[in-house]
This record gives sequence, C-alpha cells and structure tokens, in this order.
Amino acid sequence: MNTIQIKDKKFALSIPETEILATVRRVAEDINRDLADTNPLFICILNGAFMFAGDLMKIVNFPCEITFIKLSSYDGLYTTGTVKEIIGLNESVVGRTVVVVEDIVDTGITMERILGSLRAKGAKEIKIATFLQKPDALQRDITVDYVAMKIPNNFIVGYGLDYDGYGRNLKDIYTVVD
Ligand code: 5GP
Ligand code: MG
Repeated sequence: MNTIQIKDKKFALSIPETEILATVRRVAEDINRDLADTNPLFICILNGAFMFAGDLMKIVNFPCEITFIKLSSYDGLYTTGTVKEIIGLNESVVGRTVVVVEDIVDTGITMERILGSLRAKGAKEIKIATFLQKPDALQRDITVDYVAMKIPNNFIVGYGLDYDGYGRNLKDIYTVVD
C-alpha cells in the first residue's frame, strides 16, 4: 500500500491524480454548460480550494472573474465549529451570480456562513462548486450545485487540503490510517 507520514499520522493513497482531474473536468464542463451567460464571480475559499480552483478555472471557458477569501475552521484533525474570516471579500456581489469554490463541504457550517454573508451583501444567485463532499457529516441544510466527488467521513489530505499546515502540495488524495 502507498502510505506517507505527515507529522504524527500515517496516510494511505485513496484518490489518484488522474481520477481527481477527470472529476474536476466533469464539474467544469457542467459549469460551462450552465453558467456561460451569467458573467459570474468565482470566489475561491482559501487555503484549501486553491488547487481545485486552479484546475477548474483552466477548463472554464467563458468570461468570468475570480477572487479569493480566506476562512479557517479546522484545528489539526477536528473542526472547531467557529469559522474565522481572515481575508474578506473586496468585490461587490450586488445583483451578481457568484460561484463559491470550496475544497470540501463537511459539516456545512463554513458554507452556511459564506452563503449568509453573500446573501447579505446582495448576491443575485449563489452556486456552490465543491471538490469533495462528506454527505454523512452534513449538519446544515445546504444544497451543493456541483460536486466532483463524495467521500466517506474520514480525514483526508492532499490536493490543497492539509494536516496541520502540511500536505497541501500532494497531487493525490490520502486518507488517515491511524
Ligand atoms: P465544515 O465547516 O463544512 O465542517 O468544514 C469545511 C472545512 O473544513 C473545509 O473547507 C476544509 O478546509 C476543512 N475540512 C473538512 N474535512 C476535512 C478533511 O477531511 N481534511 C482536511 N484537510 N480538511 C477538512
Ligand atoms: Mg476549505
């Protein structure tokens, strides 16, 4: 088995790069089909979504803008339940279609907070594009419009997602083994 060590934890390869890129392409093509005429603002949620956003936006083929906000809710392996905004949104979303680009929807607490904030700022239409979703962990009433892959409720790293700051640069996804 292909395993790696990050700090005190071992992780096993679970989703190889080829599979990741195929699912990202499918999501991008769905977005191309659905949103080509909407002049959307894509909002990438840092840090975790940077790789997904990069690969996704290379395939999105219509006029659009992309911007970045930074939130944090995890401390090591566990979600803290409180979401901190570290870098906020500078662009106006009034009357605009926005697409939130997220690495993973887990409990949904982060996404609920983002949706509330974008609605309050006057967005016309809000779409969610997430690389991963853990359906079994969802605690909020959130409908994801675009999801590349659904995964079980285990902690993963790679492709932008970290364990305690490390592992974001891995091109494949790894799952914690102990
Ligand atoms: P939520 O608020 O939905 O519980 O969590 C969302 C955030 O928690 C994600 O954007 C992501 O940064 C982080 N997260 C959730 N599950 C995982 C995981 O398995 N691995 C890593 N590295 N981060 C996760
Ligand atoms: Mg995230």
